[in-house]
Amino acid sequence: MKTICILGSTGSIGTQALDVARTGGYKVCALAANSNIKLAEEQAREFRPRIVAVYNEQAARDLKNRLADTDISVVAGEEGVVAAAACDESDIVLNAIVGIAGLRPTISAITAKKTLALANKESLVTGGTLVTNLAKKNGVSILPVDSEHSAIFQCMQGLPENSLKKIILTASGGPFFGKAKEELKNVTVADALNHPNWSMGRKITIDSATLMNKGFEVIEAVHLFDVSADDIEVLVHRQSIVHSAVETVDGAVIAQLGTADMRLPIQYALTYPDRTPCPCKSLSLSDVGTLTFAKPDRETFPCLDLCIKASLQGGLKTAAVNGANEAAVELFLDGKISFLQIPELVERACDAQRDVKDFTIDDVFAADRAAREIVYSSR
Ligand code: NDP
Repeated sequence: MKTICILGSTGSIGTQALDVARTGGYKVCALAANSNIKLAEEQAREFRPRIVAVYNEQAARDLKNRLADTDISVVAGEEGVVAAAACDESDIVLNAIVGIAGLRPTISAITAKKTLALANKESLVTGGTLVTNLAKKNGVSILPVDSEHSAIFQCMQGLPENSLKKIILTASGGPFFGKAKEELKNVTVADALNHPNWSMGRKITIDSATLMNKGFEVIEAVHLFDVSADDIEVLVHRQSIVHSAVETVDGAVIAQLGTADMRLPIQYALTYPDRTPCPCKSLSLSDVGTLTFAKPDRETFPCLDLCIKASLQGGLKTAAVNGANEAAVELFLDGKISFLQIPELVERACDAQRDVKDFTIDDVFAADRAAREIVYSSR
């Protein structure tokens, strides 16, 4: 039985990961969250981890008081989260923190030579080759949790080397599929949070509405599967049944299908290479009836191409796109900018990021800060 550490345990992926841990009988040695200590306390009492890390220092102090009758150690701040990621008892670290806040914990888990089940796509969008090279150096596997990347990974099992022609990355299209730019001028936060197929955290739901999420997934696939963004075709598939596909050099297309339930990709990352029964609903293709595919509307949703361009340019461009996007999404959710300003501000910050070849983690955080500054000062 594996022992796992779940970072971002109080979020959408984190709570589903704990569902999987509950049904699978996993031992949980560490949890981490930002500030939701009510839920963190419940989780700690149920799963009895050795460590609970809470990023927000005041919240950490409160949780420490709440758990004073237990032997669970509550640690605070980024240092605490990074320590939880390296918890020596764990076999697997599942990183489901949202945003670049997940990058240092990712590096910590890899440095501690832990298998990494990665939902925090921002680790790869910002850290890119720094993360993958460190994983190679430490002999650490990065197992995808994102449903599309899990699908691609599943399709690639058993494929001989050099047999991949391209990746077909599917996208639901989000709540605004089929709308013209003009119609997006006055969309509200509630409209943008109304995702047709998936129930997720607020930030990724907005990213799905702008197609930034799909752009990030292109960058994530580039790093996970060592391909170029040019080798990835994005297709809108409204039903979210085909989670993604690969085409091999002989023209065969291999896809992974399933219901829209994150517990399967989460579980596969934890059980890999084994497969075990999952509480997800079985897929009935006859109930689904029709599967449709369409090209994305790149003009109305420019974030997709912004990410592809940034990925092809390399260096710190993708870190700038991510930092600017985090800031712009925060402003949009606070009602301070419009939906259509998100891509405009991200593009401005990305253009301002100079081209560099070699960079360090400190450079990634500097690029992130500079991009956020451009967004905050341009509104
Ligand atoms: P949520 O917003 O629902 O959850 C985020 C989690 O991260 C919460 O537990 C939050 O704690 C925690 N957190 C935030 N900042 C910190 C920090 N500095 N240190 C420690 N913990 C922190 O997000 P999602 O679960 O939707 O997404 C998580 C990641 O998974 C994202 O990268 C997303 O792109 C990716 N993903 C999500 C999918 C989904 O279906 N939701 C699908 C595929 C990928 P608190 O609750 O206390 O604020």
